[in-house]
Amino acid sequence: MSNVCLENITRRFGNVNAIDDISFTIPDGEFWVLVGPSGCGKSTIMRMIAGLETATSGNIYIDDFLVNDVPARARDVAMVFQNYALYPHMTVAENLAFGLQMRKVDREIIKNQVDWVAKSLNIFHLLNRKPKQLSGGQQQRVALGRAIVRKPKVFLLDEPLSNLDAQLRDDTRAELKELHQKVGITTIYVTHDQVEAMTLADKIVVLNGGKIQQVGEPQVIYNRPANRMVAEFIGNPSVNVFAAVFDGVDFEVGEQKIKCSTAIREQIKPISAQGFDLGIRPEFIHIIAPENKENFAELKVLVKVVEPLGRETVVRASLPGVEGFLSLLLSASFRPSLGESISVFLDLNQLFIFDASTGERLFPV
Ligand code: ATP
Repeated sequence: MSNVCLENITRRFGNVNAIDDISFTIPDGEFWVLVGPSGCGKSTIMRMIAGLETATSGNIYIDDFLVNDVPARARDVAMVFQNYALYPHMTVAENLAFGLQMRKVDREIIKNQVDWVAKSLNIFHLLNRKPKQLSGGQQQRVALGRAIVRKPKVFLLDEPLSNLDAQLRDDTRAELKELHQKVGITTIYVTHDQVEAMTLADKIVVLNGGKIQQVGEPQVIYNRPANRMVAEFIGNPSVNVFAAVFDGVDFEVGEQKIKCSTAIREQIKPISAQGFDLGIRPEFIHIIAPENKENFAELKVLVKVVEPLGRETVVRASLPGVEGFLSLLLSASFRPSLGESISVFLDLNQLFIFDASTGERLFPV
């Protein structure tokens, strides 16, 4: 087990800075998740930590040792990709044991390790099968097991669950979390899936265009996104964002006004010349009038789409004079009619205000 430190890492491909001056330190045993849109540089970071790619500048430390010039095989890092490759002629047990045998580990220890990892990943009953006799999900568990069985210093997982169907993905995700809690190997995990990011991570690193947007615990990223990009990337249905004009007292949104709380007004007034984007997560827009309306802004919306999800209903509604939909997350019992005009109440304590030009969050401060 080891900490992993990236210090001012830049990776250039031709003129493009795929990674642009990135620094972070993952403490020993933590599970960190890298997220961001396609091309933001997630895989490049993983490959540099694994030693499969060299940084143009900057330093990488594993366990406080500078590893810039240490070859991949000597870094004691295990990596699992989306496209796992098992040895087809070997059984599951032989696949799991292979790395340990190459390291001349004692046979008894190998057997114990293989049994332990197979039980942890629910593949113990498959130990005598060949890969082609396994489902995709089972093969992926073997690939995870093969990487973890030798207890590497660092475990790198690049979209390891993305080939699995939804149910299997959920199950394997939970098993992976449990496994990490047991073995505590420092883990870096790349995903597009924000549910995986939220549920697995001790800390999430949000990347965009090769730059770090925010590093934080999942709840902090969700509740206090550093900017509009982070807010929009984490959360499903996505945060509602709409342009607003501050008239010195309140916000104008399309044909309606959103009243400001005193706290918001004090924050916004000195910079009122700028354009603003308001953000509110779907669960903070209510349809039942709150008893105390002090901290709520009432808006009229027109119901456009109703999406029943079983446990809850997502309603997409339009705001007069505003492009796009407002998403609301409502209880399953609420089924408005299409085209119905309803009042909604925005919880002002949950409002984000972003600078429209830079995207930076201005409120809450
Ligand atoms: P995805 O989620 O689609 O896998 P990613 O976030 O992992 O994307 P990377 O694969 O790290 O992104 O790529 C980051 C940027 O670097 C992209 O713009 C990509 O085109 C570029 N890039 C990556 N590898 C190379 C290479 N060998 N040569 C040139 N450009 C590259």
